[in-house]
Amino acid sequence: MNTVAENIKKIKELIAKAAIKSNHNPEDITLMAVSKTVDVEKARLAYEAGIKDFGENRVQELKKKAAVLSEVNWHMIGRLQTNKVKDIVGHDYLIHSLDRWDLAEALEHRAGLMDVEVQALVQINISGEIQKAGIKPKEINDFLLSLEKLKHIKVRGFMTMAPLFDDPEKTRPIFRELKKIYDFYLNNGPSNLNLKYLSMGMSQDYQVAVEEGANIVRIGSAIFA
Ligand SMILES: *Cc1c(COP(=O)(O)O)cnc(C)c1O
Repeated sequence: MNTVAENIKKIKELIAKAAIKSNHNPEDITLMAVSKTVDVEKARLAYEAGIKDFGENRVQELKKKAAVLSEVNWHMIGRLQTNKVKDIVGHDYLIHSLDRWDLAEALEHRAGLMDVEVQALVQINISGEIQKAGIKPKEINDFLLSLEKLKHIKVRGFMTMAPLFDDPEKTRPIFRELKKIYDFYLNNGPSNLNLKYLSMGMSQDYQVAVEEGANIVRIGSAIFA
């Protein structure tokens, strides 16, 4: 077994352990491989080890790798510039980083022209770090209500990035808060919500995220480094 496959095996075991411990079904949790630091041949090792979901944070890299590794689900997880929207809409990418209104409008405009839907997660800035993108918790409701007018955008869930702590336990309140918001909108959302995904947890903190209810974890260095 190569190292990438070994890493994935170990991460899957730890995800299953965290899920069972917290009464979640391990099978409901998607392990996304974040391939942003590696070439497509190394990414392919993860595919061969059973990974079906891949994430990139730059549009050019995403397009390049998705053209070669086309049999998997690709996710756009990084900040998306409005002038790159044309490269994203019309593919089956799940966007994890819908983080502001001008991006929503640009996505809507492009999707309207092409008569396609955009599947997106709203990125929420739970931690309040100023350098992090995302909607502030107290602005979520207004943002979701505004999105309801954009008929081509389907909101499929929420994403957050926790700060990098030495102790992953410190991320727990952040993940717990987003799960609370997710659960609230499962039952109370405007009509454009069709929630399914809660994207939280990276190499440092995915076990805590799974315990708190994540169903997509985004893992780069723990797989590829
Ligand atoms: C790079 C990145 C990850 C993966 O980070 P690792 O610490 O390498 O697991 C996850 N999410 C986003 C948005 C990223 O940019």
